[in-house]
Amino acid sequence: MSPLMSRRQAVAGLAFTVGLPGVLRAQDAFDVDVVVVGAGAAGVAAAQELRRLGKRALVLEARGRVGGRVHTDRSLGAPWDAGALYIHWSDRNPWTEMAARFGFQTVDPSTLSGGMRFFDFSGPPDPRQRRGGFWLVQQMFDTDHEPVPDVSILERVGGPASEVAEAAMALSRMSLGDEPERISALDYARLWAGDDLVVRQGYGALVERAAQGLDVRLSTPVTAIDWSGAGVRVSTAAGVIAARAAIVTVPVGVLQRGGVRFTPELPQRTRDGLAGLGMGALSKIALRFNGERFGLAPGTDLWARLGARRSFNFECFTWDRDIVIAFFGGDHAREIISLGEAGAVRLALEEFKRLVGPQAERAFVGGRLAGWAADPWAMGAYSHALPGHADARARLAEPVGDRIWFAGEATAGWGAGEDFGGAMTAGGAWIAGAAAARAIVALG
Ligand SMILES: Cc1cc2nc3c(=O)[nH]c(=O)nc-3n(C[C@H](O)[C@H](O)[C@H](O)COP(=O)(O)OP(=O)(O)OC[C@H]3O[C@@H](n4cnc5c(N)ncnc54)[C@H](O)[C@@H]3O)c2cc1C
Repeated sequence: MSPLMSRRQAVAGLAFTVGLPGVLRAQDAFDVDVVVVGAGAAGVAAAQELRRLGKRALVLEARGRVGGRVHTDRSLGAPWDAGALYIHWSDRNPWTEMAARFGFQTVDPSTLSGGMRFFDFSGPPDPRQRRGGFWLVQQMFDTDHEPVPDVSILERVGGPASEVAEAAMALSRMSLGDEPERISALDYARLWAGDDLVVRQGYGALVERAAQGLDVRLSTPVTAIDWSGAGVRVSTAAGVIAARAAIVTVPVGVLQRGGVRFTPELPQRTRDGLAGLGMGALSKIALRFNGERFGLAPGTDLWARLGARRSFNFECFTWDRDIVIAFFGGDHAREIISLGEAGAVRLALEEFKRLVGPQAERAFVGGRLAGWAADPWAMGAYSHALPGHADARARLAEPVGDRIWFAGEATAGWGAGEDFGGAMTAGGAWIAGAAAARAIVALG
């Protein structure tokens, strides 16, 4: 039972849940110490840290599940990660330790690889040229070499006609989720690097486990936060909750769309921070087959290049499961998502058939689209700073009136209390959420 429920019952003699609005409350009292908005990696981290430090936290989550953009989908009969998959920079990522503590198996993804094959439906450049291009791009963003300017990735590599433009576009779309002219090269260069791990049971399953024991209200979207008085008053369709402070982990895309209304308006610096960020569109389609492997070893990676700005990457039968995952990013992803789930799955199946043959039709069982750019509670895959706005994450991370902290992958970068490069990732989201919790507790 939550502190909120027990206090209400004791004081007002009423059984309170968030589903019962309009319960009377003393003006000067808070229902909980902190309301955490969103139960993704950052929200779970914030609430766990607050609990560890002896504070009462209530988590309000719009979806009917926890995990946010880390979600293990089980609807096709075999688990697959619809959002985050890799525990990046695993040597210092808090999820590595949690996976071990909770008994989840993690492995180096290279040990699962069944090799890579390229298919080019659009002419040159050839794969060797492309590999060389990737290497050159990596060199350009290696901060040990020279300072990276706050210009777009495309400008950094010398524009669209440069010899490495193709590699920069592929890297930008498939690993950052958007087109290289929209992403700050400096923001990208600040990201931590390191070895990845993958979680056998699913990254989403791990986040679900980490959320156990927390007071989370599912299917409870926050519509408004009033910070005009002492503390905050957080509105949901089911009632208003008063708290000393709020940690808002809602994705940037949702905030930009006005998904949460703030009264008074947020300070200019926070709004500038939000306006300086974009959301990529990296997305996935899962195709389930009937056990047929089309001669592919488990873990085979198929790359289909359809044009300079269009490609499909199929990860086939990893963990020897009957699932093929198609990845795509940038504007190509937005086009595919606009087809809706049935249309997008059909398109992915047709592309897969071009690679493995028409027998894929008979062996096909069903598919799912994880189209994050159209998901109302995400509005994109993950954030990037726009060219010229490399300080946007730091601005968004600044507390508002010592009552509202924005925390999540978007603030898990440069300037969020310390210099670190966890932006865009579930590991960074955890670090940022926990840091916000500690900052609130430090205020007393
Ligand atoms: C396709 C894809 C692949 C990715 N791959 C990786 C990867 O391999 N490794 C990696 O580390 N990261 C990866 N990421 C990024 C990673 O998923 C995110 O960085 C991370 O999950 C963000 O966590 P968060 O807590 O900041 O936000 P979220 O997980 O989005 O949590 C925010 C929560 O707020 C909720 N919410 C939204 N609006 C409201 C509202 N009004 N009221 C209440 N709740 C609300 C949302 O439902 C959500 O649960 C990937 C993301 C995508 C989409």
